Amino acid sequence: MVDGRKSWVESAATHATPFPLQNLPYGVFSPPGAAPRCGVAIGDCVLDLAGLEAAGLLGRLPAGPFFSASSLNGFMAAGPATWAQVREHLTSLLETAGDPALREDSDLRASALLLRAEVTLHLPFAVKGYSDFYAGRQHAFNIGSLFRGPENALPPNWLHIPVGYNGRASTVVVSGTEIHRPLGQTKPKDAEAPVFGPSQRLDIELEMGAVVGLPSRMGRPLTVQQADHMIFGYVLLNDWSARDIQVWEYQPLGPFQAKVFATTISPWIVPKTALEPFRVATPPREKPLLPYLSEPGPGLYDIELEVWMQPDGAAEATRISRTNARHLYYSAAQQLAHHAIGGCKMESGDLLGSGTVSGPDSSGFGSLLELTWAGRHPLTLAGGAQRTFIEDGDSLTLTGWAEGADYRIGFGTCEGRILPAPEFP
Ligand code: CA
Repeated sequence: MVDGRKSWVESAATHATPFPLQNLPYGVFSPPGAAPRCGVAIGDCVLDLAGLEAAGLLGRLPAGPFFSASSLNGFMAAGPATWAQVREHLTSLLETAGDPALREDSDLRASALLLRAEVTLHLPFAVKGYSDFYAGRQHAFNIGSLFRGPENALPPNWLHIPVGYNGRASTVVVSGTEIHRPLGQTKPKDAEAPVFGPSQRLDIELEMGAVVGLPSRMGRPLTVQQADHMIFGYVLLNDWSARDIQVWEYQPLGPFQAKVFATTISPWIVPKTALEPFRVATPPREKPLLPYLSEPGPGLYDIELEVWMQPDGAAEATRISRTNARHLYYSAAQQLAHHAIGGCKMESGDLLGSGTVSGPDSSGFGSLLELTWAGRHPLTLAGGAQRTFIEDGDSLTLTGWAEGADYRIGFGTCEGRILPAPEFP
């Protein structure tokens, strides 16, 4: 994608930055000693939107003020026309040839444009609900093969329904939050009775998270097009999973304790608008979908995804997976439409996990369960350490970006380090 527009913020004008003028992802941050407020990432900086809004530089925002809040929910609920208005003002204020109001006001620049390394990033929105889907075909096949055998791998509903479950909003945390290994009940193979203790098969799931902006009404179904209109943007999402707890508990109602202890998201919500040039179609349908799931246009995005692993004390991280969000089978808009079709009210601040994105071959699998084939083929990391599942002190990082010809829409990082299981009497 050739765009050509550049920002006068120098660090935003290189191809390497994840946060050029074309991205402008939203987050929540606090400067040293000050309260959290909303901002936009640009190059190595964060732009304080509360300051710009107070200075009247974002136009007239009737439902505002939005950006002095410690979450983006108010702005997200205002809808696509307001999102577009703010984006237009921000683009002009940051573009080389745009509105000089910020560029030529050194006092405002000094107060509103802060180095990102010097601020603290927070969860960007209050998560009202979290639902996790299972839309990666290769992942569903791999997990089904491991849990039930290849002949029963894909459940009979999978090619017809975006399969999902309701997760926990209360434990969605921002990148950098340390996670305790969960305690739980497992049943070792060949044991007669289950045992209690720390999970021995702690894993990640590489996912995209869709963030709902506009709410829907209870009892009102949505078309896929209406659902797409409601999505504010996307984050990276790590759906931490305790496989030994999962395999024992998951029938008949699906995952529960295996998934509820933590979900990590990246701190910047990349606006859907920034990803428009990277839309790609969902794959050919093996079985025709029911009409309520039909798509008005390409619903997926061409987003490169990677997973990196670094043991405690290791000199460097090792890339353990590289894949692309285009390998999903259902789009977030289809998932959202399916979620609401029976009458469920969707709220501003709902988070939808895509399901693990696993590429067609083992270099692109999105979980350790698949990468090591349930522990049978350990990974060798830089420095020689071997891993089947996550050990205490290991740090796992997801990254992602959409690649244009002269710019890159980055998601930043989604990182978490595992601490030992908590003490239990
Ligand atoms: Ca998942």
